[in-house]
Parts: sequence; C-alpha cells; structure tokens
Amino acid sequence: MCGVFGIRAPGRDVARLTYFGIYALQHRGQESAGIAVSEDGRLTALRDLGLVAQVFDERSLHGLEGELAIGHTRYSTTGGNAWANSQPLLHHGRTRTVALGHNGNLVNADELRASIGKPLASTSDSEVIAALVADDERPLDEALPAAMARLEGAATVVGLADGRLFAFRDPHGFRPLVLGRLGEDPVVASESCALDLVGAEFVREIRPGELIVVADSGVESVQAVEPSDRGSLCIFEFFYLARPDTRLSGVEVHGARVRMGERLAEEAPVEADLVLPVPDSGTPAAIGFARATGIPFSEGLIKNRYVGRTFIQPEQGMREQGIRMKFNPLAEVGGKRLVVVDDSIVRGSTTRQIVQMLFDAGAAEVHVRISSPPVVSPCYYGIDLASEDEMIAAHATVDEVREAIGASTLAYLSLDGLQAATRRPADALCRACLTRDYPTRLPTAAAKHRFESPTAASRRAGT
Ligand code: SF4
Repeated sequence: MCGVFGIRAPGRDVARLTYFGIYALQHRGQESAGIAVSEDGRLTALRDLGLVAQVFDERSLHGLEGELAIGHTRYSTTGGNAWANSQPLLHHGRTRTVALGHNGNLVNADELRASIGKPLASTSDSEVIAALVADDERPLDEALPAAMARLEGAATVVGLADGRLFAFRDPHGFRPLVLGRLGEDPVVASESCALDLVGAEFVREIRPGELIVVADSGVESVQAVEPSDRGSLCIFEFFYLARPDTRLSGVEVHGARVRMGERLAEEAPVEADLVLPVPDSGTPAAIGFARATGIPFSEGLIKNRYVGRTFIQPEQGMREQGIRMKFNPLAEVGGKRLVVVDDSIVRGSTTRQIVQMLFDAGAAEVHVRISSPPVVSPCYYGIDLASEDEMIAAHATVDEVREAIGASTLAYLSLDGLQAATRRPADALCRACLTRDYPTRLPTAAAKHRFESPTAASRRAGT
C-alpha cells in the first residue's frame, strides 16, 4: 500500500500540485511522504517520515522547482519504516540518476538484488527497480522496458530520469494507476480521487504492462510487457483500500461497497434494532445492509479522525493501543440489538475490542457482519496483512472466530457475493489472500526486514 503521483506541467508549481496529489492519497500510506522534481534534467528530492502535511510546508515546497514532479506516500511491505526507505528515492547509477516511487511488492526482489552486484542505500525492494534503470547503458526508452521485463510481482511505478517523467504498471496490474490531464498537462496517480483534488480530468487507466513516458513531445505509450492473461487488480482495493470516491476499472468504490452490504444482508440477515458501521471503511457496506433490511442506520461508534488507521500502523503494540484512542460508543447503543458492519477481519484484535466496547456500553446483542470473506493467507503484492499464523480465520471455523471475538453472531460475505458487488469478472481480480490461489510464483523469502543488517534487525526485535 503506497500512493504515487506524477505530473509534467512547465510553468506551473509542480511541487504544490504533487503535494495535493499525494495529500489525496494519504490513506494509502502514512509512514513517510516525499516529492522529487526535475528541473532541466536536474533532480531534487525531499522526503521524510510522517504524513504529507508534516513533511512539507510552504518553505520546503518553494525549494522544489521544476517542470516535472513525482510524489509518494509510503506504507512499508519490504524494508522497515526508516528514512532511507522513504520515497521517491534517488539512485545514482552508472548511466543516469533515477528518482522513483513504487507501489507494490516484488516477488523476485532477492534475485534482482543479488544480480545488481553493489550495495544499495535502502532495504526496500523499490531501489532495485531504480538501479536496473540507472545502470542500463541504453537510452531510457529501452532501459525502462528491459527493467520492467525483469520484475515479477506488483510494481506500479512513477519515476523521473533524463528530463522525463515515466510511469508503468506490472503485467498483472495488481495496483491501480490512472492517467489524467490538467489542461494540456499529463498527470498520473494511483487513484482517480487524486486527479479530482488537483482539478485534473480523468483520461483512462494505465493498462497492465503499459509504460508511459512523458517528454516535451507529449505522452508516449507502449505495451512494454505483454499483459498477463490473468488480470489481477487487487480485490482488497475494492472493499478496503481505495478511497470510496475512486473509480476502479470504471466502478465507483463507494457503490461497490454499498452493494456488498446489500448482498451481505441477503446472505446473513438478523433481527436487530440498529446497524452500526465500523467507520470509515465499514460505512458504505453498513449503509447497504441498513437499506436492504430496513433496520435503522446509526453512527453508534464515534471515530477520532485524527488517529491514523489502526490497520496501517504496522506494529501489534501500536495497533492494540490505537483502538482505544480511536472509537467511542454513543449512549444510544445501550439495551439495543446491534449489527456491526466492518470490511474485513485480519487478526481479530480490533473486532474483539469493538465488540467488548459495545457490550460494556450496554448493548444487548452484537451481531458482526463482514463485507468480505475470511482473510486466510498473506499478501505478497503490497499489503502487509499479517503472516498466516496471525490471521484469526486461517485455521479456524466461522464459529471459532465468533467465539474469539465475543460476538453474538458472525457472518462473512461470500466470495461470489463480493465478486458480484465489484461488477468485475473473477479472472480480472487477485483474490489470493481469500482463496490461497496466487497469480504468480511465491517469493523464496518474504520477511519484511530481510534486507536489513543483523544489527538493525536485532535492534528492531529488541534483542
Ligand atoms: S493477495 Fe489479497 S491483498 Fe494481496 S493483491 Fe491479492 S487480493 Fe490484494
């Protein structure tokens, strides 16, 4: 999970536009943020740990001048939350310097890293991509497709090199990427909501395997790598990750989530007095559930919107702490039979605490309804879900999960129901964390901190 943005707009304040672009993509990553600009081919980058609004101010934006810019918000999947892993990263190679922002996770990062034959400054898999392009002696138009052909896994990338902006998507298209236009100036972004925020018009989605290079002459597009015959846009984007006002494959995410709730109501109805969402990602499905059943919708859980999404904070201790700061139940839940709708259960700790909080507030019954099937297997393509051992549903029945979270009843949306709500065919989406059917080979190693030194790793483990 990361957000990427890129623009070519000579004469405009490209850094400021990029700031607002990544501001709209803040939900995709809250660990670090950065912007790189290219001015007559010279690259400058500013990046740091923190939210977009914490990393940049008026003064820092003024220092970023150019005609091209890229931006990135990061949530780590390979390589820890450290400054060196924040992006856009700058890699000085044998042939050129490349600024690069990456969303996704490679499954062959270990092999590629070994083949590069030199130490890298970061411990993420993203610098490998920059190094492949920066060390290639061929012109950029040849170096980029050659690098793309060597990547396996998820790679939605924006970059700057040789005075040009480039953007591409892996042949599966795991993570979204759209092309827009601000007047005559091209813009690329992870989600269409970022185009809306900067006032750009949506042109089209960038295809799996497609490379876009933006030069003075305009936007050049090539199908650099054959698209996989198994399209794999992440289904998690539909029910959890993407912003509700984003359109994925032409489908507005909010509408898809409302349909998930309606279908869930058909599949698992229950007698109750109120339908409560777990805000914000459970809200559209709760609206759908309430609409389909006629049970009144209530904002029974009040969220402190200034606390980060607990799912995004990567350490278990922070997650446990986060939930107590994040939600507070309203008095109206007292004595009521509640349906609580959320988008997913991964570890179960958040759901267990919410159920307990509602019973403590006097709820008579707490019926949990989840607008996705059980998450049973890890993601190797850019979402740090958890290991299989940590997933509550990986080796438990629905009733065992219900007991563990302390709910009166529990039901998940079926895979068919979820699929139908997306209005996309099954073979267009990756659903591997729900089905264990992965569209690529699996990585030989997947530990997040595997490229860190033994000292850094033991410091992180507290040993
Ligand atoms: S494994 Fe799950 S989270 Fe990962 S890309 Fe596939 S559907 Fe998305």
